[in-house]
Amino acid sequence: MNDQAADARYQLGRAVSGMTGGGPLAVLGALTSLRGAALQMERDAARLARQNRRSWDEIAQAMGLAPGPARHPAAEAFSRLASDLGDDRLSFGWPCRECGKVVLDYGPGAGHPADAERGHAEGCTRLAAAVRAYEGSGDAS
Ligand SMILES: [Zn+2]
Repeated sequence: MNDQAADARYQLGRAVSGMTGGGPLAVLGALTSLRGAALQMERDAARLARQNRRSWDEIAQAMGLAPGPARHPAAEAFSRLASDLGDDRLSFGWPCRECGKVVLDYGPGAGHPADAERGHAEGCTRLAAAVRAYEGSGDAS
């Protein structure tokens, strides 16, 4: 945890400890509300990171996720932040700076960029670069 995060956590602890008027249930309700706000802030930061060409591996590292026996950090980060928009598949939307379209990102396990990032405009340079990187990485099947 960096100094700014440690300071924010300290200040949050002080603010919550000051919520004594309503008792422990009021504190619990406030913390539940704060958890929702923190998740939305995580999603906003990850959306900006994806927009800025940061990978799910980099996002996972920033979230402090480490590899485990049954988990891949990038997949874990994606599953924590993505939403099911009704098609029984998790996705995470972000606006592409290159083509100006909203991309539905299906995560690090979705394979070829044409399948993993849907919504780029025809001829998007970012998608083309992702395809070249993917096909050059040896992951192409
Ligand atoms: Zn694009």
